[in-house]
Formats: sequence, structure tokens, C-alpha cells
Amino acid sequence: MSSQSVLPTLFLAHGSPMLALDGEDWGKAVSAFGRQLPPLRAILVCSSHWEAPGPFRLSSAEVPGVMHDFGGFPEALYALDYPAPGSPELAVEASGLLAKAGLEAVLDPERPLDHGAWVPLRYLRPEASVPVIQLSLPLSRTPELLLAAGRALAPLRQSGVLILGSGGIVHNLRLLDWGGTSGPQPWATAFSRWIQAQLVAGNEAALMDWKGAPGSAESVPTSEHLDPLFLSLGASGGLPEALYEGWQLGSLSLTSYVFP
Ligand code: ZN
Repeated sequence: MSSQSVLPTLFLAHGSPMLALDGEDWGKAVSAFGRQLPPLRAILVCSSHWEAPGPFRLSSAEVPGVMHDFGGFPEALYALDYPAPGSPELAVEASGLLAKAGLEAVLDPERPLDHGAWVPLRYLRPEASVPVIQLSLPLSRTPELLLAAGRALAPLRQSGVLILGSGGIVHNLRLLDWGGTSGPQPWATAFSRWIQAQLVAGNEAALMDWKGAPGSAESVPTSEHLDPLFLSLGASGGLPEALYEGWQLGSLSLTSYVFP
């Protein structure tokens, strides 16, 4: 790839933290995609697991480390690491781009990587050598705000920065099907199909109004897993294709997208 090339933007679902131990077909698809990527300068992740009051926050530690921000899982999961460096320089650059768009962002040198970042990154870039920073989800946010932030950050794609939204289009932990073999629930399929139809049609206005979609109440009980999709959409330069389509436990979508 020449220095003039523009990187794609990703939206990766991260499902249950158990995917960190066995990524199954989702992990294989993410790893295969990662192997095709050109060398990267850095990765900017907007994860569902960093919600914070006030303006946007950008992690700016030299060495972020990881959080095991989940409870009740096997010991092996708490031993996993992702020792990627941070990039204080990129955090400053990203805050400058947001400021140019009228969006306030503050640097946070204490913030480690959460599992919404490190679980997919262990498959996308297993060697953990590319610097990673995170962008928070403000508590008072709208899809339009995240779309605007994505647009503001899009120029980074021209300088070797991969922009990654990490969440899940359908994510309902209260309606998990522990039998796990019966496939997605009907409301989950309806919402997921609706989102995909709007994405591939480039129907941004409809996506901003996702609460009116079939199955939205059950699929998105709280919006933090869906919202990173709007950051990815804002940073994108065209219509997405599915990188992977699948489900975990009936109510967790693993469907992931690559935007050109
Ligand atoms: Zn999550």
C-alpha cells in the first residue's frame, strides 16, 4: 500500500468475553481480515465499555495495559493480556481533529484498554505491536454526535490509523438463550436485518432513528453496544460489507462490518 492509500473502517462485534479464549468462526474471520491489512501506524478504538460523563475522552497513556472488566468468568480469561503500546501523540492529533469539528475531547492518561478493545484486537493484531488509543462514549450522546465524531476523525484513515468501533448490533444479556443452539430470536433477526438493509443502502437518516426499527427494544435495551457503529459509519467512505455474520446465545449478534 502506498502512503496515499486510505484504510477501511471496521465495526467489530465482541459478543461474550469468552470469545477471548475461543474465538470460533468469528475469531477466524477477524484474524483473516487482519492478515490482509497493510502496516498500520495505530488503531483508534471506540468501545461500548467506555462510557463517561462530560465531553469525549481519549486514552493517552504511553503503556495503557488492560482491564479485565467483567465478572464471573473462568480464571484463564483474567490471565489474558494485550501489551500494545499507547500513542499520546495520536490522542493529541485526534483531539485536534475533533476540536476542528466543534467537538470537545479531553485526554485521559490513566485509562487502560477495556475488553471491548482488547478481545477483538487479540484476533485482528495478535502481535500487539501497533499502538492503540481509545475514544469514549459520552453519557449524553446521540447517534448524530457519534456520526459527527467519526467524520471528524476520518482523515486519520489516510495516515495509517485504523478506526474500529467495537460493540454489537444486538446485545441483550437478560434474554440470553443458554441452550445456545436454537439460533437467534425472531426480534433479534428482525432488528439485525433492518440495520443491515439501511447500512448497505447508505440510509443514514433511517439509522439515526433506529429506535423505530422492528425488534429495537429487545435488541438494544441500552445503546452502548450499538453506538460504536455510528462512529464507524461516520468515519467511513462508502457502503459496508459484512466481515462476519453470526450469533452467540440467541441474543448477542457477532455480525461485523468493514466499510471502505
Ligand atoms: Zn461488550
